[in-house]
Amino acid sequence: MKKTLMLVFVLLISYMWSDQYLYASSRKAEYRKNGLAIWEINTKEKLVALTFDDGPNPVYTNQILDLLAKYHAKATFFVIGERAKEFPDIIKREAKEGHEVANHTYSHIYDFDNSPAKLRKELERSSTIIKNITGFKPTLYRPVAGYYNDLILNTAIKNGYRVVLWSWTQDTRDWSCPGINKITNNVVSDIKPGDITIFHDSGGDRSQTVCALENILRYLNKEGFKCVTVSEMIYRSESITPKILD
Ligand SMILES: [Zn+2]
Repeated sequence: MKKTLMLVFVLLISYMWSDQYLYASSRKAEYRKNGLAIWEINTKEKLVALTFDDGPNPVYTNQILDLLAKYHAKATFFVIGERAKEFPDIIKREAKEGHEVANHTYSHIYDFDNSPAKLRKELERSSTIIKNITGFKPTLYRPVAGYYNDLILNTAIKNGYRVVLWSWTQDTRDWSCPGINKITNNVVSDIKPGDITIFHDSGGDRSQTVCALENILRYLNKEGFKCVTVSEMIYRSESITPKILD
């Protein structure tokens, strides 16, 4: 047991000191300054954006949509193209009920072998499916696993996307099923205007996410927060037009 823990620790430290991690971290401030990616929105209005990755899912996405309707909240769904193709009715419902349907690649990959063409193809395939179902081309893209670099950001922007990550304090880590209270507290203990919260509506058992969401929506309502789509929050804020880096 001790040995395993030690190994995990050593692996973690070596990752943190790898070129990739240091590079991404050192560039984050520059990306933020140039608006290449969005982690949160600059606003004084009590607006927040709830986002759901990896759907649609025939069970959990519908339960989430029911809750959002109950609390008059709008959200953003970063959907996987191949799943959208499988469950078009759920995508249709998301759009019809005023939520934003956004791009999370076609096959949920993050390794593009340094090929802008590969990423472009992933985005296009997914975008075509979403447009055929909803009538709208998605304008937001969330990189899989939150992994980004110059190539990913520049390619996405050149293809008409805003790249959306999530607020540092609003990562629910619901994919690890940490418990309803933990997911709830992660959001409500630290939420502020302009925050972008990340949940997952597919990829495993998401019943904890659904239960936590009801607590969170109740809290946000009580505190006077309005849940809007990411695009609406960008529209209502002082945002920066992204500049491609050389
Ligand atoms: Zn994902």
